[in-house]
Amino acid sequence: MEQNQNELLDQLNRFTRRSHSLDEVYIFDLILCDNEIDRDGDCFSMQALSELQKRFVGVTGIFDHDPRSGNQTARIFRTGLRRDPERRTKAGQEYCCLTANAYMVRTERNSDLIREIEGGIKKEVSISCACGKRVCSVCGKNHLQQPCTHIKGRVYGGTLCYTTLDDVNDVYEWSFVAVPAQRRAGVTKTLGGQADAETEILRRAYGDALRTVDQLSEAIRRDVVRLCYRWGDNACAKALADSALHMDAAQLLTLRQSLQKGTAPAAGKSILPENPHMPAKNGLSAFSLGSMERSEDAHE
Ligand SMILES: [Zn+2]
Repeated sequence: MEQNQNELLDQLNRFTRRSHSLDEVYIFDLILCDNEIDRDGDCFSMQALSELQKRFVGVTGIFDHDPRSGNQTARIFRTGLRRDPERRTKAGQEYCCLTANAYMVRTERNSDLIREIEGGIKKEVSISCACGKRVCSVCGKNHLQQPCTHIKGRVYGGTLCYTTLDDVNDVYEWSFVAVPAQRRAGVTKTLGGQADAETEILRRAYGDALRTVDQLSEAIRRDVVRLCYRWGDNACAKALADSALHMDAAQLLTLRQSLQKGTAPAAGKSILPENPHMPAKNGLSAFSLGSMERSEDAHE
């Protein structure tokens, strides 16, 4: 325990407005969550952490995974943000965690639980809260309004894909989870209320479908790159192949179709598709592949 127990007791007694002695209560500290990317590929923004810090004061913890728990509860009476300037998250941010001090009134029934907490057996805490935003790190879309095709954990043009949870609008509870028993110990994020079973199934199906599209896109991308170099290994072919790295499935399909149909560059015909989604900004559409001739010079 970092803080002095008497100092904490002081703070607790101010919080409860009824004086407890150190014999009556068990005071412990915990880490509720942090801004690191978790195993679901999500992380909290700093703003979300500050909001959670405010909202978790007074929130009761539950021990429902433990059949002996009965009506045992613990309550948070103080929260804080602890920054670690030495440590960076996977997203490159300064590490910060939300800490809390909680207390339990000692009873005979919770003596085992207290021993487990003291012994470090109950180590991981899961929290449940509602977030109004899940923002993709690659494209900035809020998944709750507009899903995108980026997959968490993948790197797109040097940017790691993860979602940032923001706009915390409610907190529900926190609980201890026995580490070995819980497959997904850690932070439980509930979006705009408790997710029902159907929502969960749809979310999983959507994730599976995205992964399938991603695998297919990879295969098409390899095709496209191969087709790009079909007429030779030059700067233009390389630029086009590179731009394929940033295309989504629909763009890749269109490009592959064009490349497959594409006649020899001697014909001077642009083989780039007339797709409004194509990244015309790189100026590639002005050239035909394998030749630096302007496509306007081509005769149909
Ligand atoms: Zn995205």
